[in-house]
Amino acid sequence: MDEKKIMALADQHIMNTYRRVPVALVKGEGARLWDASGKEYLDFVAGIAVCNLGHSHPKVVKAIKKQAKELMHVSNLYYTKPQGEVAALLTKHSFAEKVFFCNSGAEANEAAIKLARKYAHENLGPDKFELITMKDSFHGRTMATITATGQEKFQFGFTPLLAGFSYVPFNNAAALEAAISPRTCGIMLEPIQGEGGVIIPDDGYLAKVREICDRHKILMIVDEVQTGVGRTGKLFACEYSGVKPDIMTLAKALGNGFPVGAMLATDEVARAFSPGNHASTFGGNLLAMAAAKATLKTLIKDGLLGHCQRMGDYFLAKLQDLKARHAIISEARGRGLMLACSLTIDGADIVRACQEKGLLINCTGGKTLRFIPPLIVEEKDIDAAISILDDVMEGK
Ligand SMILES: *Cc1c(COP(=O)(O)O)cnc(C)c1O
Repeated sequence: MDEKKIMALADQHIMNTYRRVPVALVKGEGARLWDASGKEYLDFVAGIAVCNLGHSHPKVVKAIKKQAKELMHVSNLYYTKPQGEVAALLTKHSFAEKVFFCNSGAEANEAAIKLARKYAHENLGPDKFELITMKDSFHGRTMATITATGQEKFQFGFTPLLAGFSYVPFNNAAALEAAISPRTCGIMLEPIQGEGGVIIPDDGYLAKVREICDRHKILMIVDEVQTGVGRTGKLFACEYSGVKPDIMTLAKALGNGFPVGAMLATDEVARAFSPGNHASTFGGNLLAMAAAKATLKTLIKDGLLGHCQRMGDYFLAKLQDLKARHAIISEARGRGLMLACSLTIDGADIVRACQEKGLLINCTGGKTLRFIPPLIVEEKDIDAAISILDDVMEGK
């Protein structure tokens, strides 16, 4: 089927919730994608920070194939080995002692919100149920997670929202401290705001948030759905600050493209959940676990975190050079392979022009170009991307 037909079929039958780039992709390998007409793209979107090992990584493909032949799904009425193995890997390499599996970032955050409320209900008293979240945050599209998301554009038209949320500016510990009320049971935030435009807080901010949570005996919930699983050059972005949260959520890159989410917590907090309190039919599905296990093992074993840090530093230096050449770039920033340029103009034209020249990037919040390539990206790929950006920005 040609590109035009693929697009027409989708537009005719699929609900109109996405503003899609007019490209129909059919194949991927590493940091490259091909559309239905055979055109090749350098992929600096990676399925929105999902395909961290690159497209169709052989170890992940092999693990999914093998599992599909053995057993695909049995539900959580029964035990399966891969679930325990993935949970053991996640707890071994994080602060956490217990894991709940689900299928997406929004579900992981929904589970985190429920666990925080249940923990507070049992340990802090029935009047402590409020969560403080950050302005310009993004936590997902379910009713609880659009409420947690501090951006009105995601909430507009869906009121009434869930009760028990308040919002403070990100990277402002004094505002956070001032917002804490006798009803506050926890604080939820991203270590680096992703959809908000790759906003990196000051060094020491997360440690300050931890200190505030400790002093007020409330929970610190960290949404690592985008930053987690290697994106910033550590397995979890929180590691840069040495902060241990009480609850952490993961999804996006956890299955390298296979849908899987997880909500992790300390034993102390996880104890608030007992059988019947929360569940997911597909949560911990065997194919998802096979993908997650292969992804985590590859990421940890293959030296990819160090590679991500080196490529991130290389890319950021190149973006600073690009900024020096083009006045439309007001700032370049990033950590690991989560990078961005703030523009003085709308980014949509740049994204479109890059796509025409074979580079996929995306734009958040109108004027921020975001670069989230697979972690396996090489210097020559970064050079190629910079060269296309240079061309496209010439004369703008
Ligand atoms: C993408 C994202 C989510 C939502 O994940 P879905 O899988 O789309 O539900 C939540 N939090 C953050 C930080 C994200 O980047």
